[in-house]
Amino acid sequence: MTSSLLPTYARAKVSFERGEGAWLVARDGSRYLDFGAGIAVNSVGHGHPHLVAALTEQAQKVWHVSNLFEVPEAERLAERLTEASFADVVFFANSGAEANEACIKMARKYHAADGHPERYRIVTFEGAFHGRTLATIAAGGQQKYIEGFGPKVDGFDQVPFGDLEALKAVITPETAALMIEPIQGEGGLRVVSHEWLRTLRALCDEHGLLLIMDEVQTGIGRTGKLFAHEWSGVTPDILSSAKGIGGGFPMGACLATREAARGMVVGTHGTTFGGNPLAMAVGNAVLDIILAPGFLEHVRQTGLLLKQRLAALKDRYPDIVDEIRGEGLMMGLRLVVTNTDFAAAARDEHLLVIPAGDNVVRLLPPLIIGEAEVAAALDKLEAACAAMETRGRRAAE
Ligand SMILES: *Cc1c(COP(=O)(O)O)cnc(C)c1O
Repeated sequence: MTSSLLPTYARAKVSFERGEGAWLVARDGSRYLDFGAGIAVNSVGHGHPHLVAALTEQAQKVWHVSNLFEVPEAERLAERLTEASFADVVFFANSGAEANEACIKMARKYHAADGHPERYRIVTFEGAFHGRTLATIAAGGQQKYIEGFGPKVDGFDQVPFGDLEALKAVITPETAALMIEPIQGEGGLRVVSHEWLRTLRALCDEHGLLLIMDEVQTGIGRTGKLFAHEWSGVTPDILSSAKGIGGGFPMGACLATREAARGMVVGTHGTTFGGNPLAMAVGNAVLDIILAPGFLEHVRQTGLLLKQRLAALKDRYPDIVDEIRGEGLMMGLRLVVTNTDFAAAARDEHLLVIPAGDNVVRLLPPLIIGEAEVAAALDKLEAACAAMETRGRRAAE
């Protein structure tokens, strides 16, 4: 039967009826270990009782009022996010791309408010992914996402990953900001070194630029800190968050220092849905868990265990796995075999993983997993490697 959905996705032939923690249950009753978490979204797993209670409780009160009125749940979440981070102010959106749009607009307005509207260009890095709106595909710079959609939105200059000379050369009196993911997610789990982040910060300070970090995928505990940039000691001026921030409820946020946000006065930006009471109730519930004493330490420990086990797997299957990348519970396997084939083989073993660029599959489990789930995932990865090896041998014969 032909689907009535716009066919922009090649979907796997499986659908899920419910979820429990790190497990998803398909319609036929079979159970899948979810190491994709809906692309790093289900940060505290499926069906978490605290989130279910927060959402249903709010649903009985009020769903939506718009930003024409005060939203106490949004005030509270913004206060908690700023308390726990570099930021002073928060704008709530509905997605990562929208959070990035707010970051981009804010950086441009910062200079415009200073009498320099000509400073609107933003430097991004090859392999970046910042979303699928017209501006964010231009920021990401990937031809396959840009082509066929009319003139590329102006104002983005992309430089090769880690190329200091190219970066210095591209900064002009029109540059407003640099924008980077601390770990490239879609780009293939490429980790940006702390030294490189320090270099970017120094360049920003030298040229009066703003540093924007896209932490849509890396944030909200994914690497064992609330935000990944905290590992480097480098602080951004503006940051986007989404994915894990709502634990599965669609939500995004742009965080900034008061200084960076100085141009964003009444009427300069808006959203109908962003920061609505349902999203805010769930966002607060997610933070209750992530910021609870010991939780991030648990993520760090589990991440370390996962990394060690993956390194051993790579040693056993050098013809399948080429390299282990990532931090915390944001890990990638760079493969010798094709990543989409490997993801399918893992799915045959009832393990969900997510392909990324550079022939990588990503492991982005819910942050609540422990030793048992790591062990179960490794058994399934081992079986997938063995299956791929057998297939490879047959093909060679
Ligand atoms: C997923 C992602 C986005 C886009 O988020 P959407 O919610 O799909 O709009 C932007 N930046 C990064 C780093 C992402 O991983």
